[in-house]
Amino acid sequence: MIVHPDADLLPRKALLIGDRRFDTASGGTHRHIYAATGRPTADIPLAGAAEVDLAVEAARNASTIWSQMPRNERRDCLIRMAHLLREHAAELTQLSVIDNSIAIATQQYGGHVAADLFLYNAGWTDKIGGDVIPTWPGNALDYTLDEPFGVVAVIIPWNGPVYALGMVLAPALAAGNTVVVKPPELAPYAALRFAELCLEAGMPPGTVNMIPGGPEAGAALTSHPGVDKISFTGSGNTARHILTSAQKRLTPVQLELGGKSASIVFDDADLEAWSPYGLAGIVNNVGQGCINPTRVVVQRGIYAEVLARLEAAAVGLRIGDPTDPTTVIGPVVDDRAVTRIMGMIDRANASGARLLTGGARGKGDLAEGYFIEPTVFADVAPDSELAQHEVFGPVLAVTPFDTEDEAIKLANGTEFSLAAYAWTRDLKRAHRCARSLVAGNVWINGFTGIPGSAPFGGMGESGVGRLGGIYGIREFTRPKNVWIGLD
Ligand code: NAD
Repeated sequence: MIVHPDADLLPRKALLIGDRRFDTASGGTHRHIYAATGRPTADIPLAGAAEVDLAVEAARNASTIWSQMPRNERRDCLIRMAHLLREHAAELTQLSVIDNSIAIATQQYGGHVAADLFLYNAGWTDKIGGDVIPTWPGNALDYTLDEPFGVVAVIIPWNGPVYALGMVLAPALAAGNTVVVKPPELAPYAALRFAELCLEAGMPPGTVNMIPGGPEAGAALTSHPGVDKISFTGSGNTARHILTSAQKRLTPVQLELGGKSASIVFDDADLEAWSPYGLAGIVNNVGQGCINPTRVVVQRGIYAEVLARLEAAAVGLRIGDPTDPTTVIGPVVDDRAVTRIMGMIDRANASGARLLTGGARGKGDLAEGYFIEPTVFADVAPDSELAQHEVFGPVLAVTPFDTEDEAIKLANGTEFSLAAYAWTRDLKRAHRCARSLVAGNVWINGFTGIPGSAPFGGMGESGVGRLGGIYGIREFTRPKNVWIGLD
């Protein structure tokens, strides 16, 4: 039986603006449902236009204090935040599981990864400044000042709130910006606790404002005249709305969007090394991850063996209570996701793809929640819906290929360009693939998560801009050029 979360575990259900809590708000309330039981956890107050105004004002007021705070003090705030994230990692994991019902085995690292991102970016706080620029003609001193944008509107999705906050807030804050964050109504809890920890870490009130809300709050925030930059993580369709809002004031936008990433398995791959990653596309976040390798393209000579390994592994995946540390597959996020995913499964069956395993909703104890069995389709046509569109659920598409050229063409053959994976023992082929794959991030022979020091982001339907490393800092600063005549 799946245990419904205890109401005592939940943080105070209130927006955090400056250092004020709002138990009610003008956007109404959202009844948050625990996806594993299909039952409500609580009614969440939602931000409306009035709270968006207040939050932007609070962020604007804090902007001067935060951006002009001595760099060592700003750095120390971020370091304290990292330590708090570590101390509260278990609590944040528990809240994340209540948020989105993704299994604890997957989410247990969220607080620690976010802590690492804060530590990494804290290290930039006292190093970014600007450059001395050679100029001509004349005798002059020319230099740049790396300045923060000011107030950044941050919109995040529900599928990994703590991680998303680490990815965006750590560089945005290190660069000297203040933020108004709008987490989705589907996953408000861990984000609200995260914001409380920011205050505890000593960030001045208004530096981080947390206003859970729906599309209306998102639209009000992204079209707000007090916002200087928008950071959006979510789907391409919503990104189009964001760009419409942003065009009113030509507000700069960074977009982290979806993916349909391919994992190419060549016939010279070390299949023992590959096997633990074979189902990564559906195991990571129950398939609800932007960089998941949700397509596996396999060289014909090893196709049968790879299919047999995938099928055996999928049948053995433990599906059930997301709070059980041995669970791998929890439910998908809500009933709308179930309808969408089951529709895609039905259409894949009708299109001639071969169902190897899964394809049905969870039964027995799982019937009340939004569970879908781990599902693997073979012989998936490259132009089919399943090969071209994000499922955002536990459904893997496997397609055979004959030549390296064909594999690259298949991998590059969608409108997304976020990630790509290749498995080969041939060093030259590995480098050829790295060059030919159209993706922001390429992984060869393994995947250990996104290093905080590396650039992360995509192109096309997968987004614009980069987070991670110095690239994340650059995303949230703009250089001002200063020329001083010396004659
Ligand atoms: P979504 O686009 O439906 O929602 C994302 C956020 O946008 C939510 O907070 C939502 O409330 C808000 N929103 C909705 N309408 C809005 C509007 N008109 N104006 C402003 N904000 C609005 O996406 P989702 O279902 O929450 O997340 C899944 C998507 O996110 C997938 O496509 C996934 O691949 C992508 N994603 C990308 C990354 C990445 O780093 N590239 C990471 C995680 C998720």
